[in-house]
Amino acid sequence: MAEFAQSDTASAQLGTLFVVATPIGNIEDISARAIRTLRDADLICAEDTRHSQRLMQHYQINTPMMSLHEHNEMARIEQISDKLRQKQTIALISDAGTPLISDPGFKLVRELRKQGFRVSPVPGPSAIISALSVAGLATDSFSFWGFLPAKSSGRKQAFNDLSQNRETLVFYESSHRILESLKDLYEILGDRELVIARELTKTFETVLSGMASSLIEKVAEDLDQQKGEFVVMVAGADDKLAAMDLATEKLMLALLEELPPNKAAKIAAQVSGLKKKTLYQWALEQKA
Ligand code: SAM
Repeated sequence: MAEFAQSDTASAQLGTLFVVATPIGNIEDISARAIRTLRDADLICAEDTRHSQRLMQHYQINTPMMSLHEHNEMARIEQISDKLRQKQTIALISDAGTPLISDPGFKLVRELRKQGFRVSPVPGPSAIISALSVAGLATDSFSFWGFLPAKSSGRKQAFNDLSQNRETLVFYESSHRILESLKDLYEILGDRELVIARELTKTFETVLSGMASSLIEKVAEDLDQQKGEFVVMVAGADDKLAAMDLATEKLMLALLEELPPNKAAKIAAQVSGLKKKTLYQWALEQKA
């Protein structure tokens, strides 16, 4: 049941840091409590104070702001803990969504908690949860990997490491790299079910779903589908095939041209690190 009587005015001894979620696109996606918390706080720590001005103006929030971003986070910790000791209430926001989720704030929260300060969430939007809520992929278990490495070799390594994971895999991606990342994903993870959530809650929101091969074609053909902000979600490794990636599939097919299934499976298991039994079963299924 919802509870309204929160003791938001902080603990008796010290101030509180509220970690406040803000919209990921649509400016109306902010809770009444978040607006009240931002209005009532003594100070708002914002990733980019200029960026957050629009939100403050829209909701007539006049609380003083101070920047807190990845380059000054460490230096800010002492300033903020001093203010909390003076029983001030501070709100932390990022440019969009929930702070700390691929955004600054981790070092601050960790240190303040270590020092015994109260850190309390004011929940709201986050791109990952919004995307999963409309993807139609399994959500009983998923893992979130933030932004993929910038270089193709790093991305391929990351996909390789995750190729056996059974849960839905979720990544953030920017417009600069979306197509290249999807190609790497397909090369390493194979033709899996994929969902690409773009510009959620904004004018050009699109959620594409299908097999990786066909979605890559769609994105490659339509430049509009390469613009904006993306959450990429991919189905976990198939139980039966236990993460038969494209490279291993190709290797097995080549080996099966020359060798019986058990020998092909033995060699492919040595190369791929997958279980020989899994590969053997896969080979039998191909023959069937
Ligand atoms: N803290 C944010 C959150 O809670 O989701 C994430 C911040 S991270 C710096 C920005 C990335 O989140 C974008 O590059 C994109 O991958 C994803 N993202 C943010 N807003 C989005 C939106 N409206 N639609 C799709 N993805 C979004």
